[in-house]
Amino acid sequence: MTDRIERVTAYIVEIPRDVPYLGPLREGEFVNRRGYIVRSGNRTLYPTSDRSVLLRVDTEQGLTGWGETYGIVAPEAVRAIVEDVVAPVLEGRDPSAPAVIHEDLYDLMRVRGFFGGFYLDTLAAVDIALWDLLGRRLGVPVSTLLGGRRHAQIAAYVSGLPRATLPERVAFAREWQAKGFRGFKFAAVVADDGVEAEMTALREGLGPAAEIMADLHWRHTAPEAIRLIRRLETHRLAFAEAPCAPEDIEGIAQVARSVGVPVALGEELRTVHEWQSRLAARCLGVGQPEMGRTGITQFARIGALCQANHVALMPHAAVGVGLFMAASLQASSTLQRLPWHEYQHSIFDPNLRLTQPTGTRHMQCEAGFYTLPDGPGLGVEPSEAMFAQVIPA
Ligand code: MG
Repeated sequence: MTDRIERVTAYIVEIPRDVPYLGPLREGEFVNRRGYIVRSGNRTLYPTSDRSVLLRVDTEQGLTGWGETYGIVAPEAVRAIVEDVVAPVLEGRDPSAPAVIHEDLYDLMRVRGFFGGFYLDTLAAVDIALWDLLGRRLGVPVSTLLGGRRHAQIAAYVSGLPRATLPERVAFAREWQAKGFRGFKFAAVVADDGVEAEMTALREGLGPAAEIMADLHWRHTAPEAIRLIRRLETHRLAFAEAPCAPEDIEGIAQVARSVGVPVALGEELRTVHEWQSRLAARCLGVGQPEMGRTGITQFARIGALCQANHVALMPHAAVGVGLFMAASLQASSTLQRLPWHEYQHSIFDPNLRLTQPTGTRHMQCEAGFYTLPDGPGLGVEPSEAMFAQVIPA
């Protein structure tokens, strides 16, 4: 029997953190009256607490699906789009066609130029919730709906070394290495002794077998990035992430042609339309789609497009409560060329308590590998602990 969407609701969740994302405050940085810091290294705004937007879809027959999008900055914008634009359009619709609904919602705002940003973030949350709902209705995980699970576990690289000094960051990486992790990514934006010193110290501390990656945070012109990456290559850099401003497609392509390691990018790109131009220009060897911004429909299409262009996938992991992370593991597990998935240890582990499995097994990340939940839909749903963190509307 056909079911219909009865209600679409957004919730903002706030989770305090001890140390701000990207580590302690640096010289000249301060918290403004709304709780944000501008990081001087990459001129980017971050909040002092973690936030996220949950999206709940309820049907007339009493089924529920859960989604989530990135909400660390201005989460009220997403909630306003849900309440004013998306919910009234979806009420009364058959929920069993997530990709069709995604395309229809995208079309609604195209002529106004909403190809990305908060509007697409909102659509990502809705899309995840509708795939979750469909999986739960059919009693299968989202990976089955996408064509089938290829990987039972996914290699995880440790992302970010949030310690104040370089010796402390090397020691911190070694702690993770002792737990069985083989891949490590450092953030150039907080490498106060210089990017090459950071790379050298990590290589010395972690030994020749470790995979070391650098996130360059969009800071360089193409010639600067080429000079820098060539120096890092001599220490066997695994990939160089986000070397230049995302708008500089030709510059990034020039970097990709001029260095001996893959350029990685994509966390800020939400649809195949944004990916297509970068792939056509051969800007990247590693694609990093972020589920919290793409949703499942676009993530799967981006994955297929990257694979058709011989680009490996190493999905990004943003700040979230665990729902879009579970969606990312579900969709990633279906991808053929998947050397790594990012692992944000300071977010994934503490937030596991905010979700519970829909089956018998929760998602996990241990000894260098993610394992997936075994239940239907995303395989996880909000727990009681999550609802305690919801900010009243
Ligand atoms: Mg990054």
